[in-house]
Amino acid sequence: MRARECCGIVAINSKSSIAKKIFFGLKVIQHRGQEAAGIAVAKDMKITCVKSSGLVHEVFDKDTLERLEGNVGIGHVRYSTTGVKTADEAHPITATTSNGDIAICHNGEFVNAERVALEKKLSGYEGETDTEILARILVKELDTTSDPTRAISRTLSKLRGAYSLAILVGDRLFAARDPHGIRPLCLGRMKEGHVVASETPILDLLEAEFIRDLKPGEIVEVGNDLAKSFEMARPEHTGHCMFEYVYFSRPDNLLDGRLVYDVRKRIGQILARENETNADLVVPVPDSGRAHAAGFADESGLPLVEGLIKNRFVERTFILPEQREREIGVLLKLNPIRSLVEDKKIVLVDDSIIRGTTMKKIVNILKKAGTGKVHVRVGCPPIRHPCYLGIDMKTRDQFVANDRSVEEIREEIGADSLAYVSLEGLVEAIDYPKEELCLGCLTGEYPVEIDGEKLRRRERLEDFTEKG
Ligand code: SF4
Repeated sequence: MRARECCGIVAINSKSSIAKKIFFGLKVIQHRGQEAAGIAVAKDMKITCVKSSGLVHEVFDKDTLERLEGNVGIGHVRYSTTGVKTADEAHPITATTSNGDIAICHNGEFVNAERVALEKKLSGYEGETDTEILARILVKELDTTSDPTRAISRTLSKLRGAYSLAILVGDRLFAARDPHGIRPLCLGRMKEGHVVASETPILDLLEAEFIRDLKPGEIVEVGNDLAKSFEMARPEHTGHCMFEYVYFSRPDNLLDGRLVYDVRKRIGQILARENETNADLVVPVPDSGRAHAAGFADESGLPLVEGLIKNRFVERTFILPEQREREIGVLLKLNPIRSLVEDKKIVLVDDSIIRGTTMKKIVNILKKAGTGKVHVRVGCPPIRHPCYLGIDMKTRDQFVANDRSVEEIREEIGADSLAYVSLEGLVEAIDYPKEELCLGCLTGEYPVEIDGEKLRRRERLEDFTEKG
């Protein structure tokens, strides 16, 4: 398998042309993937697809959007996890069946795609992504039935993992969310049809009314006037990804009934409650730590000061795949306001620490600007385990927290003190029972069966103690 991805989806079925609407929708979720973008539209059972590597506005111009004629279509933004950046890997993935053309957009990751490909004797699958394998299985199923919902549910019943999907089968549009509800997907009503989207701010842009999130395990046929629903077998518990709340989603996203901004602010409040800090100011790492810092300032009574200024025209460093690109990215991205931080004891708040390289550089530039003390506070417990469910965190040695105590991490990033929100605090802020969340990258136990890893047990949170 070449690449796995965490991405964003927009799909629309309308009475009027939809390519531009999908284009604008993809721009709203550009943060979910910056390496490739694509749109497929269907007209008269024929699918036209344009996709390439690059940002949304680099892939599409007026001419390409005009070529995408049709009233039903799907779009995708993507980042790869292996550094391979070819247009072939961009979504939508298209194929031809005896029932017409199909196109697929996928956010998430199948953990057993290769095994299923082997069992089904799919030739040449070794070089394919998990979504390409899904497409091949779906093609086989569609060759045996004229009912696309049945073909999709049969296909998905063989695959395990995290998935939010938008699928065109001829002129018909389907959306599906995995039985654990790991990745987000919501449904909205437009003046002339329906929209399916990874995040609700797309609905705001399209002036669509929010209907609801897709239920875990739901397959929906999205028509002009109605959305027909089919439910797959569901596990006892969901496994919503905690990292969507902590980092990945936009703060104005309403995810499974929770405004992400509110969750992040609550995390900040709990972080302050758990870690009383002798400081003068709270400084957010822009933009990722803003809501957490607002909560920290609220709870602690310390003033919130924008001591770091962000260059808005540089990509998010975490999702740039090459180490060197990430390093340059940090230096391009942030500049401290010396007069605000000089000789001050500051609480520097960010959402999470993955590799630690970004935080180390931020601490360094603050120290160079004359900051008295830098107390780092983090809105996510130490990440020590890989994600197999659609976020680009694949190997343990990439994590600064791998085999390091909190004190050792503090030393590595050069901070005067370091504290993380507790696991219990994080769960309290997200406001789900812990067994309804995926906390796999924190605890090493996953809601989905993954070869070589532990399946989540019903252990008490206190059993996962922090090092140091
Ligand atoms: S392992 Fe972590 S990042 Fe991956 S789905 Fe679970 S909580 Fe999200």
